[in-house]
Amino acid sequence: MTPRLATDRYRPSRAARGATRTALPRPGCDVLAIGPHPDDVELVIGGTCAALAKAGRRVVAVELTRGESGTLGDARTREREACRAARILGLAARENLGLPDAALEFTLPYRRAVAAVVRKWRPEVILAPLYEDAHPDHVVAGRLAEAAFFEARLKKIAGGEEPWFTRLLFFYPCRTYRHPTLVVDVTDVYAVKLRAMNAHRSQAPSRSFRAAGYNDVFASVQVRDRFFGGLIGRPYGEGLVATGPLPVTATDQLFFKGCP
Ligand SMILES: [Zn+2]
Repeated sequence: MTPRLATDRYRPSRAARGATRTALPRPGCDVLAIGPHPDDVELVIGGTCAALAKAGRRVVAVELTRGESGTLGDARTREREACRAARILGLAARENLGLPDAALEFTLPYRRAVAAVVRKWRPEVILAPLYEDAHPDHVVAGRLAEAAFFEARLKKIAGGEEPWFTRLLFFYPCRTYRHPTLVVDVTDVYAVKLRAMNAHRSQAPSRSFRAAGYNDVFASVQVRDRFFGGLIGRPYGEGLVATGPLPVTATDQLFFKGCP
C-alpha cells in the first residue's frame, strides 16, 4: 500500500510565496531537501537551504518520518518545531510523508512514495542523507532518495504526476565523515541556521541527559560546520558528496568563485 502524504500545516513566508509565483507557474522547486527525521535537513544542510532561499531559489524540505520513535520529543512537538524551522530558513514548502520512524525499509511502496514526491516538486537538485550512517533510517533514506532520483523519470511507472528528470543528486553526510565533493560556504547565513536548529528545542539534550552520556548534537553540528568551512578557508561550511562526475557544460563553471 502506498502511504498517504501527511497534510502539511507549514505556510511559507510572503517572500517565499512571491518567489513561487515568479519562479515557476506550477508547484515545483529548485532544490528538494530530503530528511529522514524532522530535524536532519536543518542540522546538516540548514545553511545551504538558507543560502539558496536567500538567493531566490525555491527550496522544499520533505521529511520521511515524524520522528515519533526518537528518545527526545514527540511527533506533534517535532511537527511544530519543523514548521518554525522551515519558516526561519525561508523554505517555499515542507511536508512530511509520515513513514514509520526507526522502521524505514527499502521497499517498493516507499520507493514509489519518494518518487511521487520528486515528480510532484520537480526539483533541479536533490539533497539527501548519505547512505553510510550509524542510524538505519538515514541509510534507508539515502537509498530511497537515490532510487527515487532515478525512478521518477521512468515513464511506465504509474503515478498521478508526470515523469521528472532531476539533474543532480548530492548526499549530505550526517553522522559519518566522507570527504566532500563540494563545500557550501554558509558563513553569511550561519545565524539563520542556528536559529532554525534551535527551533528544534525538544532535541537539545538536558544537562542530565548529557551527564548520562548523550551527545550534544547541536554542539557537534557547529564543530562539523567549522571543520567543513576550514576546508575552503571560510568560517562555516556544509559538505556535499556527489557519487558521480559533475558535468561541466561551460568552461566558466571551472572557475569556482570565492575559493581561497
Ligand atoms: Zn535523523
